[in-house]
Amino acid sequence: MGTAPPGTTTGGIGMAATGLRMGVVGGSIAGCAMAVAGIRAGADVTVYERSAGALQDRGLGIVIPPALHERLVAAGYLGAAMPTAPVATRVWLTRAPGGRSAREFARQPSPVTPCNWGLLWQALRTAATGARYHRGRPVTSVGRTTAGRAVVRTAEGEETYDVVAGADGHRSLTRRVLAPGLRPAPAGYAVWRGTLPLSALADHRGPLELLRGAWVTIGYPGGHGIFYLIPGGNGAGPDDRLLAYAVYATPPGTGRSPDETGYVRQLADEHFPAEWAEIVARGEHTAMTCHPVSDLHAPLAADPPFLLAGDAAGVTRPHTASGAVKALQDALCLEGALRAAASPADALRLYAGERTPEGARLVELGRRLGRAQVERTPDWSVMDQGAVDAWCRATLAGSSSYLYADVGTEPGAGAGTGTG
Ligand SMILES: Cc1cc2nc3c(=O)[nH]c(=O)nc-3n(C[C@H](O)[C@H](O)[C@H](O)COP(=O)(O)OP(=O)(O)OC[C@H]3O[C@@H](n4cnc5c(N)ncnc54)[C@H](O)[C@@H]3O)c2cc1C
Repeated sequence: MGTAPPGTTTGGIGMAATGLRMGVVGGSIAGCAMAVAGIRAGADVTVYERSAGALQDRGLGIVIPPALHERLVAAGYLGAAMPTAPVATRVWLTRAPGGRSAREFARQPSPVTPCNWGLLWQALRTAATGARYHRGRPVTSVGRTTAGRAVVRTAEGEETYDVVAGADGHRSLTRRVLAPGLRPAPAGYAVWRGTLPLSALADHRGPLELLRGAWVTIGYPGGHGIFYLIPGGNGAGPDDRLLAYAVYATPPGTGRSPDETGYVRQLADEHFPAEWAEIVARGEHTAMTCHPVSDLHAPLAADPPFLLAGDAAGVTRPHTASGAVKALQDALCLEGALRAAASPADALRLYAGERTPEGARLVELGRRLGRAQVERTPDWSVMDQGAVDAWCRATLAGSSSYLYADVGTEPGAGAGTGTG
């Protein structure tokens, strides 16, 4: 975050959360993080989660900045025992001209803390134990009372709150109150994600050795893939790892569904170095999913008594690896604002002042990264270290991202994504 969340240094001088009743719509990453923020600031928190199922089975790898991870552990949002798979380097590969072997063309310092989505959610859920968490309780609508409080309606009835956090994801119902008619802007391409157990890759020693110390980007004409290790779902230590990957490509035109996993395997076979194409081909071991890439950004992250968090507030293209990061920073910001401000409304105004521009910045950054890495890919075959560093600097255009820690961003430019 560019600036410390309001109140984090002064801690607890405000009164905003004293006796505060806070409702949270959505109980995923953003919802649980918001609940922790509310509890820590002294509010009485109720979470409504539509899904009755186990959320820890959702999602795959989530990368966050090491500094944010440390801050969340120190602040009690995440237990220190939550497994992570940190690496400090990014390696750029492409297929060597005229063959199927890999050519490494750049290496950059890029410290990241990859997490398992399920373990991250579980850790936040545990930290939010002090909240009432209603599973299988969809919110049917939200509204304002004449006294300026928020109403949350479910099939069981309605409750009023001083503050309601909309953490209900990219199709947020809460967002409709703040930004009616806002629609996602499609990027025109998609991302295929998958995970594989390392046991399925025993004959891929080269890639595995590389991935133990680095995360890998593979450039090909028309897109790229990223590969990294995450903790396994059991969290059983450094040897319990999954390989996570995401391949970005423009789906073929007519007559084919973009979620055809055959397409992405064929694409990897045509363009990736052989060993990496084989990893993508190991589909029988993985639940591969396809998301059309899109983005959106609410023009205001809060309008008392409502605030938006995580994907409800804005969806960035995944190249920024910042959706969950943003949700976690949203929570830290809310906690600080509740501690610092004299009233809930003031706290939400502080929140909006910080989080609205950050959401807009990330959407813009995601578009630039998408243009550079999918829509108008460079000729990877001629790229070298100097060319990659210069191309990254030009793509960032003065903004910053924790994924590009040391490519020479101009000092003071932009707010640092996720440096926490
Ligand atoms: C390919 C890809 C890679 C990514 N990689 C990264 C990464 O490396 N790092 C990173 O930071 N981010 C990453 N992200 C983004 C990240 O996954 C999301 O931004 C984040 O998980 C959003 O969390 P959320 O809690 O806001 O939304 P969601 O996880 O969508 O949760 C919303 C919740 O609200 C509930 N809900 C919805 N409507 C209602 C209702 N009416 N009543 C009650 N409950 C409701 C839903 O059931 C759901 O549980 C990636 C995304 C993609 C697609």
